[in-house]
Amino acid sequence: MKNHIERVLFDEQEILKGIDRVAAEVTASYGSTEFTVVSILKGSCVFASDLIRRIPVPLELAFVAASSYGDGTTSGRLKLNFLPAEHEIQGRNLLLVDDILDTGRTMHAIKQELLKKGAADVQTCVFLDKPSRRAVEFESDYRVFEVENLFVVGYGLDFAGRYRNLPYVGALREEIYAQALAN
Ligand code: 5GP
Ligand code: MG
Repeated sequence: MKNHIERVLFDEQEILKGIDRVAAEVTASYGSTEFTVVSILKGSCVFASDLIRRIPVPLELAFVAASSYGDGTTSGRLKLNFLPAEHEIQGRNLLLVDDILDTGRTMHAIKQELLKKGAADVQTCVFLDKPSRRAVEFESDYRVFEVENLFVVGYGLDFAGRYRNLPYVGALREEIYAQALAN
């Protein structure tokens, strides 16, 4: 797989160091307030699993699934496929976690939906943030790294369903896109 990657943006060590920093911020900010981490599938499962193991409080874990229809590298219209059970949302403090904040549509839509369904509070935490791409006004409460406007894969992030298992974040080689688009 490594030969599909043009360059590595964040290696394993940098990633874990960044997550340590954000985990400490989250831990300090919630204090003794109970909360549930809500991981947006599939992209954030790798990040969420590293993050929760660095937050030393008895938090709960839930999942939401969203998919967007677009071409391979941009997000189109969003559909929520799966939400936590009502009792996991109502009156709860939720920390919504995603792999990357791009146009902001996914996080914005899911946050609104969780509040509509009765969440007491929704904070957000993203692994990567591409502020230059924002289409709706949205800032995350916590973020590990900012990235330039570049399509990245690895550490949960996919291209056409692949590369989520790379332990680092990298930019794909152009031939790989071209090949996929030609197929
Ligand atoms: P948003 O709704 O903020 O535009 O998009 C967020 C979703 O778009 C992410 O959860 C991710 O699935 C996808 N996305 C945005 N930028 C990238 C990127 O650079 N690489 C990958 N693999 N997915 C991205
Ligand atoms: Mg995604």
